[in-house]
Amino acid sequence: MNKQNELTVQKILLTLFMCLSATCLFAQTVAEIGQSYVKILQQNNWDALEVNRPIPDTIVDTRHQLYSYDELLDDLRLLRRRYPSVIKVEMGDTTCQGRPIPIVRFGNPNAPYHIMLTGSIHAREYMSTQLVMAMLEQYARDYRYENYKGHRLHEIFDSVALVILPMVNPDGVMISQQGFLGAVTKKAKLFVLDQEPSYDQIKSNANGVDINRNFRNGFGDGKWINRVPHYFYYSGPYAYSEVESRQMLKTSQEHDYLCFLNYHSSGNVIYYGCMNACDSVNADALRLATLIQNHTGFKLFGPDSSMPNGSWADEVELCYHRPSMTIEIGTRNPVPIEQFPIIFNKNRWVWADLCLTLIRQRNEAEETASDDVAPTDSIPVY
Ligand SMILES: [Zn+2]
Repeated sequence: MNKQNELTVQKILLTLFMCLSATCLFAQTVAEIGQSYVKILQQNNWDALEVNRPIPDTIVDTRHQLYSYDELLDDLRLLRRRYPSVIKVEMGDTTCQGRPIPIVRFGNPNAPYHIMLTGSIHAREYMSTQLVMAMLEQYARDYRYENYKGHRLHEIFDSVALVILPMVNPDGVMISQQGFLGAVTKKAKLFVLDQEPSYDQIKSNANGVDINRNFRNGFGDGKWINRVPHYFYYSGPYAYSEVESRQMLKTSQEHDYLCFLNYHSSGNVIYYGCMNACDSVNADALRLATLIQNHTGFKLFGPDSSMPNGSWADEVELCYHRPSMTIEIGTRNPVPIEQFPIIFNKNRWVWADLCLTLIRQRNEAEETASDDVAPTDSIPVY
């Protein structure tokens, strides 16, 4: 079915939906079901919902294309159950379509250092969630006994914990995967139908706001900015107007993060640094981006590649003076699932290497500060 036919079918379905919604009993039932579902999630009892499938050896399925929000929640419930000591999950704020944003904590809850990771801030880039989740499961499985560069993984992640928002923009992801059926409210459904018949290319949230243009540093600037709600590049009415961007801000304020890692697609490239960040931050970002490049082979684009345009990377590097790296996976959007195995293999050890490198940097800085301590390659175990 081509896109035009698909859009026609969606319009017919929407008409049917509207007719049915006119029936009071139906509307009331839908509302009650929706409210009770959202209430369960908002009460942080999200794991009380049953997972209607047997627990497989490998929880995160990386063999199919549409990795959905519901599947993400199922996987988080199962992963937390299987690895309770190293994976903590909570629900953050709820989007305009009623979907709470999951927050995952991996490693030692009392770790002295932290890194913040994000996936699927852009809707059509949902393979970034699948990648982050598959990596999370792999690290959790290997936590006790696997080594990296001579160190057990638990030594590394006992010192540096990861705070992960695996799907920042669940509403956009579901629209990208299902068209207007992925939207919940009438307003959002009409927004989807009002756009070109290319819902699988949406980057924005259900309000038509590009979350990665909704931050303060360079807000409203950039070459391709749209001035009204759109599938991409609309910054929103003001910075932090969206639940998703406010959740990111809130999470970013929890710790003094060593760095920020953002998963996007596509291009097989890494962006690092920011034009108006200080030189030392950009130098740190280059070092860490080069480390990631050593694993992935992705080309680097530095702070001179674009003006600040309200992106998350621009925001954190200016506000927190910490390096930020944006990894763009795959060759097109949405990234075909056939590309997943090679993407996973290239990124497999990035977290361990990044954390180990940052611990060593911290140790070296402390040793320089106290000149009576001999250099050592050991890392603290907490
Ligand atoms: Zn993106």
